[in-house]
This record gives sequence, C-alpha cells and structure tokens, in this order.
Amino acid sequence: MYTVKQGNTLEDAKWKFKSDLHTHSIVSGHAYTTLMENIDFCSSEGIKILGSSEHGPHFPGGPHEAYFHNMRIIPRKIKGVTVLRGCELNIMNVQGDVDPGFERFRKVMDYCIASLHELVVAPMSLEENTQAIINAVNRYPEIIILGHTGNPNYPIDQEKIVKLAKEKDIIIEINNSSLGNGSRKGSRSNCQRIAELCMEHGVKVILSTDAHINSEIGRFDRSIMLLDEIEFPEALVMNEPEKLMRYLHERGIATDVD
Ligand SMILES: [Zn+2]
Ligand SMILES: [Zn+2]
Repeated sequence: MYTVKQGNTLEDAKWKFKSDLHTHSIVSGHAYTTLMENIDFCSSEGIKILGSSEHGPHFPGGPHEAYFHNMRIIPRKIKGVTVLRGCELNIMNVQGDVDPGFERFRKVMDYCIASLHELVVAPMSLEENTQAIINAVNRYPEIIILGHTGNPNYPIDQEKIVKLAKEKDIIIEINNSSLGNGSRKGSRSNCQRIAELCMEHGVKVILSTDAHINSEIGRFDRSIMLLDEIEFPEALVMNEPEKLMRYLHERGIATDVD
C-alpha cells in the first residue's frame, strides 16, 4: 500500500517532469489524436518537450518510412513546445534487426525507442529476447531508450539489460501504460525489479506515458508511485527538460534546439 513519505519524493518533484518522449498520434494507426492536437495539449499543460515516437513502419497500421523521413519539416518549437523527432522501432528478431527502411530515415531521427511487440515478433526465449535487445542497441546508436522492458510476454535477463544501458549510457523507460489495467498486464513486478536494478547500477530512467491520446501525455502517476515506493533517486530521472536536453546535446542530438 502506497503511503506518502516524509521528505523528498518523486511525487514532490513531479512538477519538474515536463517531458514525455514516448507518445503516439493517429499516424500510428491505433491512436486517436493528431500530432498538432498533442502539441496543443502540451502547450496548454506546460509540457516543454514532446517526443513524437510513432511505431516503426513494420507495425501493422504504422506509417510508411516516408513519414519519418519527412519529419525534418516539423519546426523545432511549436507553441512553446520543443518537438523531438523520434520513432518507436520494432526489434524484429534475435539478430536485432529493426524496421526495414530505417537505414533510409535514421539520419532524420533525434532519437529512437526500441521495443518488442507481439504484433511484430513472437515472444522468444529469455536468452533470445535479451540478445535481440543487446544486438539492436549495439547496431543502432540512435536507440537511446528501451521501451516497456517489463512486458511479461518478453522475459529478459533484467540485469544484463540494465548493465547494457549503463555501458551505453542509454535510458530505460518506466512506462506508465504498462502499470495500468490495459497494456502488458503483469508488468508491474518486472518494472519494479528493473527500476531497483537501475538504482543499484546508477542507470538513467525516463518516465513515459506511451500515450495514444493527447489527454494522457505527461501523466506519470503510476510510474511515480512505483519509483516512490522503492525510494528511487530523482537524480536518475531524466524528465526535467533542461537535464534531458543536456543529456541529448552531450550525445550530439538536437544540438540546434536550446
Ligand atoms: Zn510499444
Ligand atoms: Zn508506444
């Protein structure tokens, strides 16, 4: 049972977490608001950084690779919101292949999330799921966020993946959707264990919503509750906009954005 702790908790700090790098729009085929509606929502809610991360082209109903290629025309800032050009890549197999066409649009991407999805790749063994993620990360430096790693349908060697994130200085997301009653049921205990390992190894995490409608963007309530329960340090949470931009700039990402 969650109880509000004395002293500094992430709940106390949540007003700073004004970035959401895992969001979808109607372009993904199974989401319900447009990119502009997402931006308008962020603008009105004071969310400073919106990462647009549509599913990669191989996801059923997902956009053609030309969509990602053309993201270069999206202004860097709209209505006070920094819009980052992302993609939620599909890890396709144990070799760590990602969506066909990525080679042609990767240079446009600010960042990529890499995820395993049931509609793309059938769950493999724990060893194979783990190796698939390791191979994808080693092959594609654009992958800086690992998506919904707590999905019980894709068991992984959690410690290996957390150590991989440490070695590459990439980020593990704490996916708010995985902690609800809808998507990826049964993720919670995995997410908690992964977060504990991140704490132990000093690995960065980012709160993400995986929003498929604009009203969900920036709502990290369940993720914050989980991290508060294990007294996760705010220092490793990357959602504060200035901290996030500093990290991105250090990697040479979106250096034309202040
Ligand atoms: Zn996903
Ligand atoms: Zn997603």
